[in-house]
Amino acid sequence: MTIRFRSVTLFLAVILLFIVSAAVSLQATAQDDNTAGTPSPEAAGDTAASVASSSVNWTVENLTFTSDYPAGFSFEATITSSAGPLERARIIWSHAPGTQRSRPAEIDADTGILTGRWDASGADAVPPWVGVIYYWDVTDVEGNAFQTEPQYVEYADDTRDWVRSESDDIIVFSLDLPSDINDLAVDAMAEQREKYRAAWGDLLPYKPRAILFGNREAWNEWQITYADPRVIGLTASDWGGTVQVVTNSGNLYHLAYGTVLHEVGHLYQSSFTVMAAGSWLIEGDATFFEIDQQYDYEGRVRTMAANGDLPVLLNGSGPGVSGRNARAGYDIGYTFFRWLEINYGLEGHRELIELLDTGIGRVEAIEIVTGLSGEEVESRWRVWLGASPIVPTLHPTPTIFFFPTVTPYGQ
Ligand SMILES: [Zn+2]
Repeated sequence: MTIRFRSVTLFLAVILLFIVSAAVSLQATAQDDNTAGTPSPEAAGDTAASVASSSVNWTVENLTFTSDYPAGFSFEATITSSAGPLERARIIWSHAPGTQRSRPAEIDADTGILTGRWDASGADAVPPWVGVIYYWDVTDVEGNAFQTEPQYVEYADDTRDWVRSESDDIIVFSLDLPSDINDLAVDAMAEQREKYRAAWGDLLPYKPRAILFGNREAWNEWQITYADPRVIGLTASDWGGTVQVVTNSGNLYHLAYGTVLHEVGHLYQSSFTVMAAGSWLIEGDATFFEIDQQYDYEGRVRTMAANGDLPVLLNGSGPGVSGRNARAGYDIGYTFFRWLEINYGLEGHRELIELLDTGIGRVEAIEIVTGLSGEEVESRWRVWLGASPIVPTLHPTPTIFFFPTVTPYGQ
């Protein structure tokens, strides 16, 4: 295939909005009705069984989901109780495990039809083709509660000619891109499957989605908040996927074998561990899962080492992942994970993320995995890169709170 690679910086501009997606999550939570204590869909069957034993008969008819992309989607159902009319009804849904949204439903007193609706707005917006797992939660006038079995649908954009592919590893949607992008992403995920499994201890608990736009206008349509021309990608565990826009002569091979694998690495981070957003740890780790590198990351860091420019890694703030030198944190972080793999295998990666998940600080976790002091780890990593083992004097940097900002840095 012909790969036209305009410049490295084009691909530097692919953004991962981990910080922003965290903000999306927070805002979405704040805007949603409180669903704390609501049983998960998995519990619905048990609830239904217990309700049935209390001699109330429930009937469920005409379960309907309607995509009204990009404005939102709506749900309808007719649910009746033998004990009396319904008093309350809610529609509850999630796009990926871990996050639920809900809305109160309207009950038509004459027809008994329930209607629930979600309107896309601001930070609440989601891209097309996210999965929607939903169920109804209703209570009749006698206080009997009932939940329907979970239903699975997709928030479809039927106004355009999307190409959908699904494998054991991923669901890929592409629009206005060469059709082989779907196969490339499927193949890349298959090729990396065992590395993910070994490094994380298991595969993701859901099938991730890659939603790939080759059309800027279509991309802008769903981004009610983020219609920022600099943003060309978002990844959110809330959606269980990554959304990217590629225009002009995008490097399709890198999109699949680099970007998608990198972003799926971030989805693993969200599912399996706790890592500080916007850190070399989180970006170096996601970069570690790219098969196709934009350039020789390790080579670049070895050049830094040879020039005496290798910064302090473990103590202090470490190399940054934003601003003019955004790639430093990605590349240097990547070399740390390569060093860890060479010396401790993917098993070392798995141990590290499990320790971080318990809330242990990163230096302490690295010390436990390696059996070495933090200073010794830093020294050995430096020597491996061809630098002097002497760690440069650390000049303390002020702690800065990075407010989530949409910037064209990093990936
Ligand atoms: Zn990233």
